[in-house]
Amino acid sequence: MQLTWDPPVADGQYVAESAWERAVLDECPFHAGGGCGATGHGSYARVHPAGARVARFWCPVERASISLLPAFLAARLPGTLDELEAVLDVVEQAASVVEAAEVARPADDAHAVTSISAMRWVRRRLGPLRAALLALVTLLPALAGCRPTLGALRARLGVTRVLVTLRSLAKEHLHSLSPPLGLRARAAR
Ligand SMILES: [Zn+2]
Repeated sequence: MQLTWDPPVADGQYVAESAWERAVLDECPFHAGGGCGATGHGSYARVHPAGARVARFWCPVERASISLLPAFLAARLPGTLDELEAVLDVVEQAASVVEAAEVARPADDAHAVTSISAMRWVRRRLGPLRAALLALVTLLPALAGCRPTLGALRARLGVTRVLVTLRSLAKEHLHSLSPPLGLRARAAR
């Protein structure tokens, strides 16, 4: 089970201040009334940003771990929501996805060495992200009638960082939205 968490430090200080060490689980997501004895269970490393860790807790009754993903990080993808937003911005402004892939693709992504793989790189990240934006303009009354683009959402919300804003506005919907914005778990088999 993954939950989002607002660290008590600026996003850029999360790693430097080891903010995950101070994470507190306000309430067990399985036992809202408490009493289950959910307790700290260490942390796990994220590949990117380098040095970042995610706090983890353990509920002994549910026999499940609970991780507190800092709200500015993408779910199940490396990197931050701001980084993904920058890529989506380029795509929205680019004439074609291929052109966007060549502009937005990080030079150090060894897997994205050709235009085709770069295009796949962009699509893999942005397909679920666009689906989440489309779902949110339907789910959130504040976004009713808004087009599901960053430009339109920025204007409607009056913010520059759309994805981190939506993470916080859509807290109760995150488990029904796909990663990297939402926290929906993989389908059970
Ligand atoms: Zn519990």
